[in-house]
Amino acid sequence: MVETTARAESRPRLLTGDRPTGPLHLGHLVGSLETRVALQHDHECFIIVADLHTLTTRPRAEEVAELPGYVRDIVLDQLAVGIDPERATFYLQSAVPAVYDLAILLQMLVPKLRLEQIGSLRSMARAAALPDDAMTMGLLAYPVLQAADILMARASVVPVGLDNEEHIAIARECASVFNELYGDLFPLPQARISRWSSLPGIERGIAGSGAKMSKSLGNAVFLGDSAEVVAAKLRTLEFGDAERASPHEPALLVFARVFMGEDEARELGAGLRAGTLSLAAAHDALIAAIEQRLQPIRERRSALAGEIGLVEEIIVDGTIRAREVANVTLARAREAIGLEPLWSGLVTATQARAKARKRPY
Ligand code: ATP
Ligand code: MG
Repeated sequence: MVETTARAESRPRLLTGDRPTGPLHLGHLVGSLETRVALQHDHECFIIVADLHTLTTRPRAEEVAELPGYVRDIVLDQLAVGIDPERATFYLQSAVPAVYDLAILLQMLVPKLRLEQIGSLRSMARAAALPDDAMTMGLLAYPVLQAADILMARASVVPVGLDNEEHIAIARECASVFNELYGDLFPLPQARISRWSSLPGIERGIAGSGAKMSKSLGNAVFLGDSAEVVAAKLRTLEFGDAERASPHEPALLVFARVFMGEDEARELGAGLRAGTLSLAAAHDALIAAIEQRLQPIRERRSALAGEIGLVEEIIVDGTIRAREVANVTLARAREAIGLEPLWSGLVTATQARAKARKRPY
């Protein structure tokens, strides 16, 4: 496909995305979606729907059967927050086979020990209830596949959460070693960490744990939740009591800082401590602030959901474009390493011999 002028090469490329393990939530909104919306104007954006990465911890048939719904959900959520499909290329990772090939080539450049030392992979294994001896090659090589995603787009900017910073370092190392060995091909990608990269979950079920809001932990406020569900979930946030000191800042105060502002959060905390503000009133104030952000998103989400086939069309168009880009990068990588000359040299010599013997080949 020809690259359109709207997607001209002059803007730096950005790659980011999510695993389709559930719909997106408030943590995604402040931790990554708002950054994506802001950066889409001066970057050429590739937004991956990382279904292969989902297989690293959710490979069972019943889990794979959930992918179509979640793929649709996360694209819908991103359109609802304001990502413009004319500016951004949404694509389905597993439908871009050139990325698998690139990942194999990059695996040659990363020491196994380097991957074994990455803490986030062990946390993912723990979260998926995988004991150490059941760690798969796929999970261990997760950052290498992520490097292939980033490098196939030749992206230089990668907005991610703190948990992914080390993965971007691996992508940078892959790019740098590749360039050193075979000549400059890849820009060195840099992580862009957002200010709010770890919004805690609502405390239901895991009171005071300080756990990050996560699609799969049952502690998320989803962008598609109704106003009633959002309010009910937020009302489970406790302030805690001075007797039971917790190492974590009460989630209620973190939410207030993120959604109301530092000054308002300080006031709210002081009121709660002094007993001049009830917990119910603090909840009301927080719910009002969050609703102000969520209401327009919810409305756009339901309008877009009503346009039959729209989301699917955006994914298919974007994936076709991503395949073109990936094929070009893979061809350049194969050429640089010498694999393409190896194959084409063999073909040319064989055809020449066949011609000399006057046999069609
Ligand atoms: P899963 O439960 O499948 O791990 P998740 O809800 O933790 O899902 P991810 O897909 O792991 O979400 O996260 C993708 C990106 O979203 C992260 O790199 C980070 O930028 C952002 N993100 C996720 N959760 C939060 C959060 N609670 N606060 C801020 N940012 C978040
Ligand atoms: Mg996660």
